[in-house]
Amino acid sequence: MSIIADGMNKLKSDSMEIGGIEVEVLRKDIKNLHLSVRPPDGDVRVSAPRCMDDEAVRLALAAKLEWIRKKRRLFEESERQPEREMVSGESHYFRGRRYRLEVEERDGAPRVALAGERIRMSVRPGADLGARERALNDWYRRHVKDEIPALVGKWEPVMGVSVAEWGVKRMKTRWGSCNVGARRIWLNSELAKKPPRCLEYVLVHEMAHLLERGHGDRFKALMHRFLPSWRLRQAELEDFPLSQENW
Ligand SMILES: [Zn+2]
Repeated sequence: MSIIADGMNKLKSDSMEIGGIEVEVLRKDIKNLHLSVRPPDGDVRVSAPRCMDDEAVRLALAAKLEWIRKKRRLFEESERQPEREMVSGESHYFRGRRYRLEVEERDGAPRVALAGERIRMSVRPGADLGARERALNDWYRRHVKDEIPALVGKWEPVMGVSVAEWGVKRMKTRWGSCNVGARRIWLNSELAKKPPRCLEYVLVHEMAHLLERGHGDRFKALMHRFLPSWRLRQAELEDFPLSQENW
């Protein structure tokens, strides 16, 4: 538990585990509980009235466990594009822009490259849906991997942290994750589809966890300091209704 100074108020930030899910608990001068499941990590946070004791919060959360699980599943599903067949003419996103896919069958290793307004993919003759998806996903992953070193190099001195290890992989429920002990950061290859500022936001968010594990006021203060536009960038990642419900 930590006590965080927030201007005139003292905000208490705490966390509890419910059904294997870690929930951050914030005490505020409010009348009702507010529960949210938030990008980029699918983190669960509850704001609770100061007068409500831990046991009552725990009971209320337990009653909402199915809702939380459902929101996390929705989050997962929203990550998926509508069903794609990976054929010429389909639109696919790259760095926040829409491109037309152009598929060419040709001997040799699969290749993907930008060509004007198109994403041009060449795959072996008869390459099935899975092979085409792998080719595109590999391209997305390589793109994010290429972007990271410069971004880490830019932010390490600014934030005064050092990232020991990082990697990029396709993830279904989160945009990024940070193992604070190992100082290891994972980023979602799907970020290649979003405007570059979203990738930077997720990286700064994960790096900020090296300074503060939770998402309480101290964390927000760090984000405001390093990346004043972080809320806008976060909103851009949320291309689905905010997973928030008031009780
Ligand atoms: Zn986080």
